[in-house]
Amino acid sequence: MITGAGSGIGKSVALTFAEKGANVILNDLPSQASVYQVKERVERHGVQCLVKLGDVSSSGEVNKLFVGIERLDILVNNAGFLKESVFTELSDDEWDKMVKVHLYGAFYCARAAVKLMMKQRAGRIVNIASDLGQLGCERLAHYSAAKGGVIALTKSLARELAPYGILVNAVAPGGTLTPLVERLGPEYVAEESARYPLKRLGRPEEIANVVAFLASDDSSFMTGQVVGVNGGGVMYG
Ligand code: NAD
Repeated sequence: MITGAGSGIGKSVALTFAEKGANVILNDLPSQASVYQVKERVERHGVQCLVKLGDVSSSGEVNKLFVGIERLDILVNNAGFLKESVFTELSDDEWDKMVKVHLYGAFYCARAAVKLMMKQRAGRIVNIASDLGQLGCERLAHYSAAKGGVIALTKSLARELAPYGILVNAVAPGGTLTPLVERLGPEYVAEESARYPLKRLGRPEEIANVVAFLASDDSSFMTGQVVGVNGGGVMYG
């Protein structure tokens, strides 16, 4: 299951998984009709595809997404959005919405998925964090804090779920050319590109390939890791 699969990174993850032969469940908001175009493209790979619409920031809607699902091998917590706000003007609602979608969304979906994965004694969760969850960012305190929370959630789940054979990792993308970034305009893209040693933003497929690796047997000794896919924007030793 991939949340936020109607656009950008989530769409690319869905297509990459389908290319590799996985059946996929696509989630997005009911307003995101493009998810049906993604379904058509996924099905061209000869795999099965279900669309489950719902807002990941609502516990009740997330529980409904999981009704009727008997087996789940991989959950990708990807749904998200970006909205800048000067810290002193950040409203309670803006803060709540940001944390609800990114952090509560990952929590609600992981909680429901883990119940299935524990029975299977196997599973993978890949959380899409952000380099800003590691670095922090001006005018994005709410976004950065939510993504930092996603990173801590990843590590805690990795520890708690290891005995059940469930591996939990995060991918922390740097700026990536998706509608989320493109809608901020070419100047923003140019400024952002300059921030990275590779002097460009990522392509959604470059993120999706790493998500696919973390969902595959090739990463069987990895859990609790935050994998930076960021053109060198963050380097830890
Ligand atoms: P995008 O806007 O192209 O796609 C995000 C998708 O999530 C959309 O289809 C949207 O409808 C869906 N979504 C939003 N809120 C939702 C909700 N409450 N419930 C269900 N679906 C919801 O953005 P993207 O760039 O592909 O972002 C995907 C993820 O990657 C996000 O978590 C984002 O924070 C993260 N990320 C993006 C970048 C970047 O530069 N693009 C960098 C780091 C991290």
